[in-house]
Amino acid sequence: MIHVTKTFLPPQAEYQSILKRAWDTGWMTNRGVLVQELEASLKAYLNVPNVLAMTNGTLPLQIAIKALNLTGDIITTPFSYVATTSSIVWEGCTPVFVDIHPEYLTIDETKIEAVITSRTSAILATHVFGNPCHVEAIEDIARKHNLKVIYDAAHCFGVTYKGKSLFNYGDVSTCSFHATKLFHTGEGGAVFCNNTELNNRLFYHHNFGHEGNEAFQGIGINAKMSEPQAAMGLAVIPYLESILEKRHTLVSKYLEAFKNTYIQTLEIRPETQWNASYYPVIFKNQAQLLSVKQALEAQDIFPRRYFYPSLNTLPYIESVSCPVSESVAERVMCLPLYPDLEKASQEQIISIILEHI
Ligand SMILES: *Cc1c(COP(=O)(O)O)cnc(C)c1O
Repeated sequence: MIHVTKTFLPPQAEYQSILKRAWDTGWMTNRGVLVQELEASLKAYLNVPNVLAMTNGTLPLQIAIKALNLTGDIITTPFSYVATTSSIVWEGCTPVFVDIHPEYLTIDETKIEAVITSRTSAILATHVFGNPCHVEAIEDIARKHNLKVIYDAAHCFGVTYKGKSLFNYGDVSTCSFHATKLFHTGEGGAVFCNNTELNNRLFYHHNFGHEGNEAFQGIGINAKMSEPQAAMGLAVIPYLESILEKRHTLVSKYLEAFKNTYIQTLEIRPETQWNASYYPVIFKNQAQLLSVKQALEAQDIFPRRYFYPSLNTLPYIESVSCPVSESVAERVMCLPLYPDLEKASQEQIISIILEHI
């Protein structure tokens, strides 16, 4: 069976030898040596001033909303994973959806100002599939209207924009290290923040507010990464360059195969060094998508409808219309893409698609 992705597993002995260090200390969590080493390695690899490892990629979003004291409306994208929207609602704020750009698939920055009101406190946008939002325009709007900016950068490991890590943009940026993501710790995630004072607040929030054993700096929750999670991350890091290279090779093959068809593929924003994290294809209509999906599934190949449905249509959302996002969500799916996807399998995927469009 071929799935949309396959978790990259380092050689088990390498994972175990790192894990053994946790065994030797008897220390399984509470920011042990492995978590600290992972943070240091990520800081160096990504060239970012701060990184705070967490236990998944959703709590960083919720903690960022809390740390920035956001209230009222948060402007967001309808084209993302459900965690982007659910985190806003979970924190007691209201998501206000702005439609997406039809080619970049990120929030349409030209439509943001029209929905800003006195209730608006922030913009929470997703660099979807690792493709950067128009960060300069968003920063200008935020500055002009005194709004905070959070980026859900769950897909952005290794992406640089204008020569620096995409995690450096926004007041806070978050990433997921879930097993389905390009870089992973099984479950895991991180928050990135360049402002020292805000970074401290994020830190306290992720560990119950603890300042030492007996003092507390405000309210907190438990979002700490554990040592076994960090061990997985440390075991994956040495393979990152080869993971990225293999992904780019596969993406080039897909691009070549579909370039003379009507299939729309992701337009990457200029000045981006992309990470080939996903390979979305957009069909003419939903019927076409379903027919291709069925043909692939008949051969035990399982693409995924990322992202469907458009988040403005979630049952707990006061529905608004986002025609571009709704249309893309109905027609897009992500094709299998992972480092050891075999050449023959990719060729089979391509030929099934070409036969059914
Ligand atoms: C994966 C993902 C998340 C959630 O991350 P978890 O680590 O699964 O909690 C949030 N946002 C987006 C866009 C994602 O793809």
